[in-house]
Amino acid sequence: MGMYPTKEETIKYAAENRKYKPKVLLATKLYARLKPWRGTEDEQWDKLRIYCTMMNEAYRNDVFLVRDANYHGEGCFNLATHKITMSKVSVITFMHEYAHSLGKDEHEAVKWSLCLFKRIFKKSFSNIEFEGHMARKVVKDV
Ligand SMILES: [Zn+2]
Repeated sequence: MGMYPTKEETIKYAAENRKYKPKVLLATKLYARLKPWRGTEDEQWDKLRIYCTMMNEAYRNDVFLVRDANYHGEGCFNLATHKITMSKVSVITFMHEYAHSLGKDEHEAVKWSLCLFKRIFKKSFSNIEFEGHMARKVVKDV
């Protein structure tokens, strides 16, 4: 087993079902109701910060979300500062980094985030495809 799951492992993990604390499911449902991808970029960040606060409440955690346009990469969690840094709003990336804040390794973080996303964002989940251990939204022609 490598540090990062392969595409095959990722697809297998995404197909699993796992249990979440009721408060986590509630927080994620409330976040979904806020329509994460709607509104201006600033509004989308505000919604993600609200979600981060609700997740902190659910886990008695103290993660701080940092928006850094100069950050290159999907996202990262800093264990020393308890900060998640992201350059753009991505629900799955946020969930993945949040999983790291709970002490989960790469395989567990991929599983945890994808299964949670699938459970609450059913329609969006059907529109993602996998690239290695990364899930990406399929951009459809409009
Ligand atoms: Zn990771």
